[in-house]
Amino acid sequence: MTTSPPHHATSVQPGAGQRAAHPAIEFAGVRKDYLSHGESVPAVKSLDLAIGQGEFFSLLGPSGCGKTTTMRMIAGFEEPTEGRVFLDGKDVTDVTPNKRDVNMVFQSYALFPHLNVLQNVAFGLERKRVAKNEIKQRVGQMLEIVSLTGMEKRQPREMSGGQQQRVALARALVNHPRALLLDEPLGALDLKLRQQMQVELKRIQREVGITFVYVTHDQGEALTMSDRIAVMNAGMIEQLGSPREIYEKPATRFVAGFIGTSNLVDGQVTRVDGGVAVLEPAPQERVLVPVGGHVETGRNLEVLVRPEKIDLHRTIPRDAGTSVLSGVVTEVVYHGTSTNYTVATSAGSDFVVFDQNANDAEDVASRGERVYLTWAPQHSYPIGV
Ligand code: ADP
Ligand code: MG
Repeated sequence: MTTSPPHHATSVQPGAGQRAAHPAIEFAGVRKDYLSHGESVPAVKSLDLAIGQGEFFSLLGPSGCGKTTTMRMIAGFEEPTEGRVFLDGKDVTDVTPNKRDVNMVFQSYALFPHLNVLQNVAFGLERKRVAKNEIKQRVGQMLEIVSLTGMEKRQPREMSGGQQQRVALARALVNHPRALLLDEPLGALDLKLRQQMQVELKRIQREVGITFVYVTHDQGEALTMSDRIAVMNAGMIEQLGSPREIYEKPATRFVAGFIGTSNLVDGQVTRVDGGVAVLEPAPQERVLVPVGGHVETGRNLEVLVRPEKIDLHRTIPRDAGTSVLSGVVTEVVYHGTSTNYTVATSAGSDFVVFDQNANDAEDVASRGERVYLTWAPQHSYPIGV
């Protein structure tokens, strides 16, 4: 069966310098249930998604939310229970993996241990009987892109984990697939190397211009590299957007909790003044939330404030134009670039404040001290409004 792809024109963002008639990858009404011991396990509940040509797209979510299943349906290793999958506008739902022009990279590099770097990378091209000269040229170019020039003769066991991952990348990219699927590829590397590889991966993707679909449960990783991120939870996409949108404007409480550190305060709107809703958790306290015309007095609001937007004071601040909460410092942790304070607010919730160590030679406050937290109105974000 072949159906024509749905149109998601507004949600497609082709990568720089590319404009194509069709998205690289599309899901239309896709559901996937596994059958396990006679029981149906829902892995992906409902997926409608279009990934643009040349996009660096991440699927981000906790373990078990359906990321790998989604990837495997792109590659053709799993068949949807319902719905269709399209590559470049072509319905590939019934097409076998080897006929789909996509490659996958995993955490385990799966290199051929008895072949050297050159042979590992050239393997696919040789099987396709590409001319020797062309193989040499393409492999050389790819090793340069992944910064492995000079290591052609090494065997995988003579290389570090990061270097082996580069070989795996070169091997996956050398035959110019339409899309590269990466399933938690950096999971085995230590933090420093992982961060270095994140920057490298982004550069490599820019240089080759191929659509990357990147699966991770690490929000920092997704924020660093992606053009867009789909945040998944229990088989569904909770939010789809740029890293900035997802961090600054989480659509749901789940996204707010999963991405970054979130301070949440909720309460009844006591008044709305010029498009700004006001919560008054306690005397002399207020939370100012720009809401436009959407919110009425008396309703409940849940408000997000990020830790780096908050200022900490030891005396009650005079500026009436900011939000103010008071509380008691319960934790002070020095992190080098910043000091992080945990404050038990009288509004009920714990707040975390990141204080940049730009000029301060000393901590603003110590444990047990009463403090006042302030932030500008535009840094209050109402969730789900
Ligand atoms: P993620 O990659 O986000 O951790 P998966 O896609 O691997 O999530 O799994 C999604 C859900 O499907 C989980 O509940 C998982 O236990 C289940 N699942 C995955 N693979 C199978 C399988 N082959 N058989 C049965 N259930 C599976
Ligand atoms: Mg997985």
